[in-house]
Amino acid sequence: MDLSDLYQELILDHNRSPRNRRHLENASRSAMGYNPLCGDKVKIEVMLDEQGKIIDIAFEGSGCAISTASASLMTEAVKGKTPEEVKAIHDTFHGEVTEMPVEGNGRVELGKLVALTGVRKYPARVKCATLAWHTLKAALDQVGDTVTTE
Ligand code: ZN
Repeated sequence: MDLSDLYQELILDHNRSPRNRRHLENASRSAMGYNPLCGDKVKIEVMLDEQGKIIDIAFEGSGCAISTASASLMTEAVKGKTPEEVKAIHDTFHGEVTEMPVEGNGRVELGKLVALTGVRKYPARVKCATLAWHTLKAALDQVGDTVTTE
């Protein structure tokens, strides 16, 4: 099995059995995201502690396999992380999928998120992979309205 097969399997697994797909009671922040190019919709809810650390996160929504897997993988990647850690993961991930990689100290290990960086070969799908991240940022920045990738 080569790496691309492994990555595809991880994406399919997270699409079939999304992690943290539920409503989060008593969420501190939430935001809606919409990707009109593909029709992906996502709602991100987070529970933060006093320092802004993500102590719980959940998502709901409907979309393609990439957007669902990305939201699922994102919730696993950022749970328990501080705002600085979330920003570092976001920036590194976003850099990888948009082919503008972060260099130097700002770069962090992506773990399973590497599975999604293959979308850079398919520009139309990049927004499917980044929708959940844009929406998380909107929630953390307490932007009220629905964010779109356009
Ligand atoms: Zn999509």
